[in-house]
Amino acid sequence: MERQFGTKGAVFTTEAISAAEYVIPPALKGAAIYFSVKQTVVASNNKDQILVEAPRVSKETFYSLKGNINKENWKGNEEVPMYESIQPVPCKACKGNGYSGESCKACKGTGKIIEDLMVLTEEDQKKEKKAFEYPCGNCFGTGKLQSPCKECGGHKNLYKYEILPVPFKTVVSGVPILHSSLQTKYEKEIGKDLQELIESVEGIKFGNFNDLTDKAEASLGYWDKGVKKVINAAGSDYKRYEKDKDAKIESQIYLFPMIQLNCKTKRGKKFDIYSIGSENNFIIYSNF
Ligand SMILES: [Zn+2]
Ligand SMILES: [Zn+2]
Repeated sequence: MERQFGTKGAVFTTEAISAAEYVIPPALKGAAIYFSVKQTVVASNNKDQILVEAPRVSKETFYSLKGNINKENWKGNEEVPMYESIQPVPCKACKGNGYSGESCKACKGTGKIIEDLMVLTEEDQKKEKKAFEYPCGNCFGTGKLQSPCKECGGHKNLYKYEILPVPFKTVVSGVPILHSSLQTKYEKEIGKDLQELIESVEGIKFGNFNDLTDKAEASLGYWDKGVKKVINAAGSDYKRYEKDKDAKIESQIYLFPMIQLNCKTKRGKKFDIYSIGSENNFIIYSNF
């Protein structure tokens, strides 16, 4: 702070920093709404993909797990091959034909065997060679040999399946839900901090959301579009959690006054300060 605010030759104290000198008006007022929930979540999302020849699929033991599984009752691996994930993948090596069309060695790919036939002609029995041609018995006259593809074993497809985590039912308590009308990058941090400090930051408590909506303006002492919008957004989020059978709202709803100061030091460094809470009990965030 001294580097940004200090005056050469003078003793530096924080009291020497005056808001009027460094804060770019206006100070923005806003509101933040906080509550916490208990949620059922699926913890891991690892995913392993296996690609095998068709006959190997039946060597594996598959699982079909659609519902949430209670971890205490589960026996066996925590990541298992899932039946629903089995899918054919056309073999690339043989383009899904199942065989490779090598040319027949017996007929050199012509489909025909040509042999010399000795023919004795006329009275003097003059030897004459004539060609005798017949279809190749090795390739049935096609010139090509259909041997099973080495990649897919002739099954046209390979098969893929996924090894996925067992969807255990995990209940996580104390998930902070925060909505603030001043768009700060500290939203996540604020939510987490409030989770721990909720009793030492002064907010206005409400038992239900309608109450908050009715009394928010009077409680804050100011009102604008942003505040109205954030109350609506938090309200629909609250209702969503109320309906969600995998979630339970654990805390009361807190409404916090919020202030944003845009500041600039003598040396031109700009920074923001956010404060949440009352005059006496508050937490601040800044990129200073
Ligand atoms: Zn042949
Ligand atoms: Zn193949």
